[in-house]
Amino acid sequence: MQLSVDDLPMFFDERHRLLAARLRAAAPRFLALEGEEGAAEALAGSGLFDLVVPEGAFDTRGICLAREMLGYTNAAADSIFAVQGLGTHALGAAGSSDQRSVLPAYRRGERIAAFALTEPEAGSDVAAIATTAVLDGHGYRLTGEKLFISNLGIADHATVIARVEGADKPLTAFWVPLDAPGVTVRPLTAIAPHPIGALSLVNVRVPVSARIGEVGQGMRLALGTLDAFRVSVGAAAVGMARRALDEAIDFVVERKQFGKRLADQPLVQALLADMVVDLDAARLLVLRAAHKKDTTGERVTTEVSIAKLGATEAAQRVIDSAVQLFGGRGVMAGAIVEHLYRAIRPLRIYEGTSEIQRTIIGRALTQEST
Ligand SMILES: Cc1cc2nc3c(=O)[nH]c(=O)nc-3n(C[C@H](O)[C@H](O)[C@H](O)COP(=O)(O)OP(=O)(O)OC[C@H]3O[C@@H](n4cnc5c(N)ncnc54)[C@H](O)[C@@H]3O)c2cc1C
Repeated sequence: MQLSVDDLPMFFDERHRLLAARLRAAAPRFLALEGEEGAAEALAGSGLFDLVVPEGAFDTRGICLAREMLGYTNAAADSIFAVQGLGTHALGAAGSSDQRSVLPAYRRGERIAAFALTEPEAGSDVAAIATTAVLDGHGYRLTGEKLFISNLGIADHATVIARVEGADKPLTAFWVPLDAPGVTVRPLTAIAPHPIGALSLVNVRVPVSARIGEVGQGMRLALGTLDAFRVSVGAAAVGMARRALDEAIDFVVERKQFGKRLADQPLVQALLADMVVDLDAARLLVLRAAHKKDTTGERVTTEVSIAKLGATEAAQRVIDSAVQLFGGRGVMAGAIVEHLYRAIRPLRIYEGTSEIQRTIIGRALTQEST
């Protein structure tokens, strides 16, 4: 695993060099895991949650380095890691001091959070959220359905975005205990290991103090959360693609056909060359956006969308090429490239599909020129 920092010094600080060494040392622990079994414990034991639930400033490049390592070693751990940040981000941004007092337990990995935005009828169109929060006595009653919510099954609380009836700007965030009466969690099975489920809320009572920020801040908090983590989806994709390239190289230098190594076939070399160009370009897009996000006060929405779109689509191509190089062995259950082929697929869908990223980029380009 490369996790190179020194070849791109313009994007990193000294602390990233130290972090990269720490991540390289932690990598064998994640490589040894079977799917999501023990992943949350390994993340807590490695002290990695302090990156996504930071005490101080948010270090996007640090999160990207961690997701590169986790994408390389264990995709389920990568997802749990990122969603811990997504689930707690609104508390850090707008929570009361009481609400923020729970964050150290999430930072240490003693507790796990989820982020519940998507609904059956509100996917890309977040504004269509129908879950309601009705003010009732000393609190709210929440009712609605949330779908495809990562970390359900291992999480104890979720940030839930709901619609406060009667408000001018209704979308509002709530910190909801997942063991409250009226909450039901239904596990779902994704194509690759990934704790995920559906969340049903029926008249779930929470106190007013469970509201995060003011009524009407829900959309801003949700978009702020996605904005903070979206570029790191590209970093996870880079990690998965790097693993596929490493596996493919190891395979073609061993495998012989037509009396020589596959690695000596010009077409095989050409495919490997295309894979590394895709991979390096993806990493550069991710680091450009992450660096700009960390070091300037400027809006980086477009760069982040370019990085997420470019890196996840490139990683899918790289992994597909790796499967091709493995021939029949690449599509047999249990092969690492077969696992990567399934693991990469959701990254082009969650935190804004590729089409939504294209929409953001296209809109920015045409608005800039009018
Ligand atoms: C593994 C996984 C984990 C997830 N984890 C979470 C989570 O933790 N929390 C959470 O809240 N959500 C989560 N999601 C949900 C995810 O964010 C949504 O699946 C995603 O936003 C797309 O919504 P949808 O599935 O309803 O698809 P839709 O929005 O119905 O889209 C279906 C297709 O139509 C396309 N489309 C939609 N609108 C347009 C348009 N205007 N122009 C062109 N094409 C369009 C989409 O790109 C897509 O290809 C997760 C999803 C997956 C797969």
